[in-house]
Amino acid sequence: MSFKDFELKINSVFLMRIMVAGVAELSFMDYPGSPALVIFVPGCPFQCPMCQNWRILEAKPEHEKEFDEFLSKIRVALGAVDAVKVSGGEPTLYPEFLLKLSEFCRDHGLLFGFDTNGYFPDVVKRLLGQVDLVSVDVKAAFNDPALYSRVIGVEMGEEAISRLRETLKALFSGNVYVDVRTTLIPTVNDKEEHMKNIGENLARLGYVGKALKEEASYTLQELEPNLAWKDEVRRMRRPTLEEMVKAGESVGLPRVYIRKANVGFMVRLDDLKRQEVRKLDLI
Ligand code: SF4
Repeated sequence: MSFKDFELKINSVFLMRIMVAGVAELSFMDYPGSPALVIFVPGCPFQCPMCQNWRILEAKPEHEKEFDEFLSKIRVALGAVDAVKVSGGEPTLYPEFLLKLSEFCRDHGLLFGFDTNGYFPDVVKRLLGQVDLVSVDVKAAFNDPALYSRVIGVEMGEEAISRLRETLKALFSGNVYVDVRTTLIPTVNDKEEHMKNIGENLARLGYVGKALKEEASYTLQELEPNLAWKDEVRRMRRPTLEEMVKAGESVGLPRVYIRKANVGFMVRLDDLKRQEVRKLDLI
């Protein structure tokens, strides 16, 4: 074996290939309470018509990078943040990358978190103890697989709900901050009974105890039709603040937050209720 071949062989064993579709060097909207660098990974088992990152739902050869080389490119930007968040796409498609990045963050005094749609509970379980924050999507009511399928854009509602339950159960009993999020889609997933069902299921899975320790929150995010993937969603309207507050109340959980343009990234429902909601409803 020539030295070149030997070098290639060694590199293929020790160099870690990762998939990265993009980086936001400084975000105040992705890691509650901390400025963060956000890494976007490609690919997702879902095809949500409302997806804002639909351009990266397919992994492409140009997304492939080498881990250390990638880190050296973002090293300067890392000096300006307190946290690293992996978003996507679906980050749990890449467990080895998440593990390695979490080690790097721990060694460099950075907080580490990732987003997930909850479809890979075994990966989430493997990462418990290595991660500070997990933001997990609940797309719709747990008792309506047909609605869930519609919101995730693939006929996997029942399986997605079952795997999501397993993910949430593990997260609520783990040592990690859990931010559960639902994007409110007017006339689709926002009925009072939907919200109540989400609240009841989260409570059964262990949310309340975790929230009372200030280790969990539930955030209602507004739909952003202009950024959505599919025309059917682009034609929709944003939910009003009044609708979001009402939905938040129907959930019936502690530590509910609203995320809405012109209002804030994460505004506590209790604080909003103390104000005159109609006056704040700018859209
Ligand atoms: S789960 Fe997230 S990344 Fe995947 S399609 Fe839905 S919104 Fe997009």
